[in-house]
Amino acid sequence: MRFPDITIAIDGYSSTGKSTFARLIAEHFDFLYLDSGAMYRGVTLFAQEQGLIAPDNTIDPALEKALAGLDLHFAPGTVLYMGERNIEKQIRSMEVSSQVSPIAAVPYVRHYVDERLHAFAAAGRVVMDGRDIGTTVFPDAEIKIFMTARPEVRAQRRFDELVSKGESPVFEEVLRNLQERDYIDSHRETSPLRRAEDSFELNNSEMSLTEEIAWVEGLIRGKFGLLNAPEEV
Ligand code: C5P
Repeated sequence: MRFPDITIAIDGYSSTGKSTFARLIAEHFDFLYLDSGAMYRGVTLFAQEQGLIAPDNTIDPALEKALAGLDLHFAPGTVLYMGERNIEKQIRSMEVSSQVSPIAAVPYVRHYVDERLHAFAAAGRVVMDGRDIGTTVFPDAEIKIFMTARPEVRAQRRFDELVSKGESPVFEEVLRNLQERDYIDSHRETSPLRRAEDSFELNNSEMSLTEEIAWVEGLIRGKFGLLNAPEEV
């Protein structure tokens, strides 16, 4: 037995473990994983390199036209490329994190990213994580999950991730950045971060990854009447 070809939308606050969870779902149940935040990070890196965003976050309107020549794609799997260049490491830096939310609030940037996400997901059987996947990008997704966790737990996760990548973050700065991004993401006009009414909330502050996978498996089995199906997936 194989789980049905559905779309799973995972939204939530910054560093709630959405991408780790989505990756695991993809591995366990054979789905394609797409990280929408990586796309916004890629656009931010591009704007920075082109000198189209100032230190005070003022965005040059020339960005709109420049996006027509920007080739962002995942290859292979979940690694983000800008043209021929692997930009996976750069897009996770604090420099990009500090300007990504203002960039993601711009309607033409959201349009650029949404178009590409739909094209990447065209084949179906997708798990995608972000801030507006269940509300805007895939409002008809069969399974919608909204993830939360305590801010200190989230900041510690992000801090550990940055350290493991060779950066030297300051904990308070990481926490402040998360809170700032949550604020901007929840208060912007276009596609703000909010919980879809038909989503299931997962607060994973005290959960292991194994418990998270068991939780989502129960959710999918319950939803599709597979409760008594064999364990095989
Ligand atoms: O998920 P991640 O933290 O990498 O996302 C980086 C930023 O991209 C978020 O803080 C948010 O501003 C933006 N984002 C968004 N909509 C999405 C995914 C990410 O606005 N669907």
